[in-house]
This record gives sequence, structure tokens and C-alpha cells, in this order.
Amino acid sequence: MSSDYPSFSGFKLNKQLLSAISDAGFEHPTAIQQKAIPQILAGVDLLGIAQTGTGKTAAYLLPVLMKIKFAQGDSPRALIIVPTRELATQVLEHMNKLGKYTDLRMAAVYGGVGIKPQIEQIEKGVDILVATPGRMMDLYSAEHLVLKKIQMLILDEAERLLDMGFKRQIDKILGIVPMKKQNLLFSATMSDRIQLLTDSFLDRPVVIRIEPERRTAKSVSQVLYHVPNLKTKTNLLLHLLTDEAFRKTIIFCKTKATAANIGKYMERKFGEQQVRIIHGNKDQNTRMNAVKAFHAGEIRFLVATDVAARGLDILEVSHVINFDVPLVYEDYIHRIGRTGRAFQTGDSVTFCSPNDEYHLKKIQKLIGQKIPVMEIPAEVEIAETPNEENQLMLREIDGQRKKDDPEFAGAFQDKKGRKPQPFLSQRRKRT
Ligand code: AMP
Repeated sequence: MSSDYPSFSGFKLNKQLLSAISDAGFEHPTAIQQKAIPQILAGVDLLGIAQTGTGKTAAYLLPVLMKIKFAQGDSPRALIIVPTRELATQVLEHMNKLGKYTDLRMAAVYGGVGIKPQIEQIEKGVDILVATPGRMMDLYSAEHLVLKKIQMLILDEAERLLDMGFKRQIDKILGIVPMKKQNLLFSATMSDRIQLLTDSFLDRPVVIRIEPERRTAKSVSQVLYHVPNLKTKTNLLLHLLTDEAFRKTIIFCKTKATAANIGKYMERKFGEQQVRIIHGNKDQNTRMNAVKAFHAGEIRFLVATDVAARGLDILEVSHVINFDVPLVYEDYIHRIGRTGRAFQTGDSVTFCSPNDEYHLKKIQKLIGQKIPVMEIPAEVEIAETPNEENQLMLREIDGQRKKDDPEFAGAFQDKKGRKPQPFLSQRRKRT
């Protein structure tokens, strides 16, 4: 077995799990999976410092599914505590996928929805439970939930659990569940608070850290273009991509529609053989095949939305182009982190339209630096902003200002009847 390409069959997982892994399209374990799965299977407590997107969920789910093995009794034997309803449903979905060939009964409980169906489901018997702290404690206090059979307890996204003020509830939960059990804690970052939680929760834990190298990756250069509108973005994209240096490039777009349009445009310009498009409407196999072809160097450009790219092992690219500024700010770090690995250096280029400026500010705050601005090259045609696009942008900007200042009346409404100033002229002056 090559250490570069280890396989899931190297782990002590049963056939049911291996088949589900294969159905899910996972070919190789990710770094955290390689490190964590054998340790968790061996029964130790574990602290995993890893961000979303590293495959950390399957890193704990697979051993949990393996160890809880089959349906038994009525009360849960594994409990996964997560901060949000979204994450709860996501983890359940992931678990249903990986546990589909087992008879394990899995459920998720979270607030914001009726409690009755959750009570009914628990009463039918559950082997593995995913829960947000508040709803879980409600169910426990009302005696719908028995926790004395818990053998494995997982705190996922622990730093967010603490950020959201769940510390007291977590302490309570730790007081209720049996002392003797296997404990796992996953957090995107390490901090004093996480250290304290680790000390109180884990017994001589193995620590696995998947470095968020992206934050510090010096080999990745970043540049930013202020671009007035979609057409100019497209012109600039085409200009950049004609440079041979862009040899293995991902173009990230905010929406499926943009990804599809840009992808088609690029297919026309560079030939269908050079481009693949992945977004949420493409099935997992199509996405995996696209990524495979990209990795193999069969295609030069991959156009993707974040959602589609998340979780796919797209590493080692020469360039990342953010056709749009990502709205999930962490995604900026994830996106640019894909460059500059096997390639000695990687470049990331971000296009920022006027309605993106708000998000750009937040991203710059998150990464703690200003992204250097480049001027749009003279050869690139700067197109007029169509009125409709201009209006949409203005409306979005109004919404952003209102978010920060609820008193803000909205410049857009004030300009009734008057054609709003297009962004083009403003940008021209700056450059
Ligand atoms: P996570 O970091 O757990 O949020 O996982 C992010 C995404 O990676 C999910 O969409 C998983 O389905 C996907 N994923 C997890 N493990 C693998 C793997 N070994 N190969 C490909 N995709 C994976």
C-alpha cells in the first residue's frame, strides 16, 4: 500500500461500511481519517483539531458505526453533540449514508422544530443520536431520553459550541452520561477554552492536528481586482486564462447559474476538452470524475461552486480564481488553500464587484490582512454595467448597509425615478 494513496480497506472496518464508503465515492481516506480512524477504533480518547472540509465527520462516524455495530436495546449508545441544527442534520445525513448497510437506528434532535416527532422517534429506539445541547437537555429533563448506555460521546465543532454559550449545558451533559466511555472532541481551532474542555472531558487523549496551512501558506500569493460588473469579470477572466501559467486552475463561483454560464463560455473559448463544471445539480459521480480528470491533468480548468467543491479532494492547483467573493468567509481560506502545495507557489486571484465589497471587508478581517489590489490590465475591455445589474447591485448594497445600521433608510429607495449612477464611472476614476 503506497503511503501516498492509502485505502479504506487498510482500516479494520467491516464490509457494510466499506461498501457504503465506496458508494459514497470516497476513494482515499483524508489526512484526518488516516490518523483518527485507527486510533478511535483502538478505543482511545481523541482531540482532533480540524476544520470542516477535512473529512472530520467521517473520521469519527466510521469508527462509531463500526463500534456500535448493530441495533440493540432502546437507548442510544453513542451521542454526538453539535452546535447547530444545520450541522445536526448534516451529520445525520452523512451517517445515514455511511451506515446504510447496517441496521443501526440513527436520529437527530435539535430545536426550532416540533419536539413530538423527535420524542416518538426516540421511543422507537435509537442507537446513535446526534443532538444540539438545548433540545437534548429538554428531552432528557422530560425523561424521554435515557443516557446511561452511552459508550461513546463526541463533541463536534467544540469551539462553536463554546462560542454559542453552550458551556453550562455541556457540563451538565458530561455529568449525566456514564464516566466510563470513549470521548472524542473535534474543534477547528485550539484555544485556552478548548484546552480546559479537553482537560475536563478527555482522558489522556491522542491529539491529532490537521494544520490549517492555508492561513499561513506563504507560498500562496493573493491579488484582488475591483471589477464593476459581470461582463468585465468575464473579460478579465478570459484575459488571465490565456496566460499559460494558469495551467491547473479552479474558478469558484457563487451560484450554480454563474458556474454553469461561465463554464459554458469557457468551453466555447478553450474547447470542451479543457473545462469541467461542478455544481450542486451534478451528481457525486460526475463531480468525482471531473476532479479525477482535473487531477490527472486531462483538463485545465475546473469551474465550481463552493458547495460542490466542499469535500472533494481538490488539492494542488496552480491557480484559484474567485470569480465572486465567497459569502461564507471561511470559504475564502478554503478556496485559496487549494493552491501552492505540490506546486512550489500558487496564486489566488479574487474579483470583487461593488456589491462584494461588504463581504471583502469581512474576509480581510478574518484573514487579518489586506489583499493587494491590482489594476485591470489595459487590454481588458471594461464594459458598461447594464441597468438591471446595476439596480440589483444597489439593492444588495442597501441590504448590506441596513444589516450594519438598522436606521439606514436605503439609498436605493431615495433615488426613485432617477437612474442610479452606474458603477463603471466610479471604477474608472480609481484606476
Ligand atoms: P467534513 O469535513 O466532515 O465536513 O466533510 C466534508 C465533505 O467531505 C463531506 O461532503 C464528505 O462527504 C466529504 N468526504 C469525507 N471524506 C471523504 C473522502 N475520504 N473522500 C472524498 N470526500 C470525502
